Amino acid sequence: MELLPEFELRQPKTTAEAVALGAEIGARYIGGGTDFVPNLRRGLETPSAVIDLSEITEMQSIEETGEGLRIGASVTLEQLLSDQRIKEDFLLLAQAAETIAGNTHRQSATVGGNLCLDTRCQFYNQSEWWRKSNNYCLKYRGDICHVAPKGNICRAAFSGDLAPAMMVHGAKVELVSAEGKRVIDLKDLYQEDGANYLLLNPGELLVAVIVEKLEGYQTAYRKVRVRGGVDFPLAGVAVGVKCDENHLTDIRIALTGTNSRPLLIEGVEEWFGEVTDEACVAALVKLVRAQSKPMRSTFTPGSYRNKVVANVARRLIGELINV
Ligand SMILES: Cc1cc2nc3c(=O)[nH]c(=O)nc-3n(C[C@H](O)[C@H](O)[C@H](O)COP(=O)(O)OP(=O)(O)OC[C@H]3O[C@@H](n4cnc5c(N)ncnc54)[C@H](O)[C@@H]3O)c2cc1C
Ligand code: SF4
Repeated sequence: MELLPEFELRQPKTTAEAVALGAEIGARYIGGGTDFVPNLRRGLETPSAVIDLSEITEMQSIEETGEGLRIGASVTLEQLLSDQRIKEDFLLLAQAAETIAGNTHRQSATVGGNLCLDTRCQFYNQSEWWRKSNNYCLKYRGDICHVAPKGNICRAAFSGDLAPAMMVHGAKVELVSAEGKRVIDLKDLYQEDGANYLLLNPGELLVAVIVEKLEGYQTAYRKVRVRGGVDFPLAGVAVGVKCDENHLTDIRIALTGTNSRPLLIEGVEEWFGEVTDEACVAALVKLVRAQSKPMRSTFTPGSYRNKVVANVARRLIGELINV
């Protein structure tokens, strides 16, 4: 690991102050720093200023909205996991959060940092020396993608665990910049480009995420990883499903680890009203398989991860609707 590069550390007390600082060219936000600091030490970023969000109290609380919760972006994963309302009505979020990193990371890792987590690739999450010897790559400093050399887009995988669980809970995100505030669906925060995966405007800050309660749904999150104790997902699947007797009323399936963005599976509504049998599950899994696009960005082949994500989805949906 290299030494940290030189930068100016700023510690605003309000979001207004933070976004004013964030508008400065080359400035970057930091939550718990559990991903950002290792990336800095690997020379993956050289910000002129780092804006530490940890002193902004207005971003640290979880509030009730009537339909659900508004979770501040600086709420730590530990705080999320110990909140009684999360334990009672948002177990899916807790299931995802408790799989993230290790216990000590979760004391400082934040919800906002997890949702904005940089994409990962075996050719990118390496030392400066390693990347330089391979002529860098398209995502940073180079001009070729080692995963898809004929392409002109980075295929690094988004690997945050919270996003798919939040998407199942109909999440929206509150974004603030010097231009004002906007609220968008969480799924629209991302795009399929590993080098430019977040659709944030320059200096825009994720202030909170709003999630809705799911009445009458069965939910579950499961991830597959190489090291069972602490590891990013090779594939993670979140499912929320609602049935009326043995008919499907609603299903939401979201993935992580497979694409350059967390993915809310499209086209599921075609199966609303259908009998929840093998054919219905198989059709839903087919949608998962068609939309998940894992590439050679991890040591585990993309084709294998595509099978894994389909099998995890098959098992989860089957368990939740007893098929
Ligand atoms: C050993 C190890 C294992 C890990 N395993 C997992 C895992 O299994 N699953 C997983 O999801 N993660 C994992 N992580 C990554 C990381 O710990 C978590 O994703 C964590 O939640 C990131 O939150 P943070 O607050 O530390 O983010 P930071 O490192 O502070 O920031 C991450 C990124 O988000 C940006 N950012 C932070 N807050 C905001 C905001 N409010 N608005 C706009 N941009 C913002 C930063 O600029 C940076 O680009 C692991 C890390 C380590 C070191
Ligand atoms: S997918 Fe390609 S461009 Fe993106 S980080 Fe990996 S090697 Fe680099």
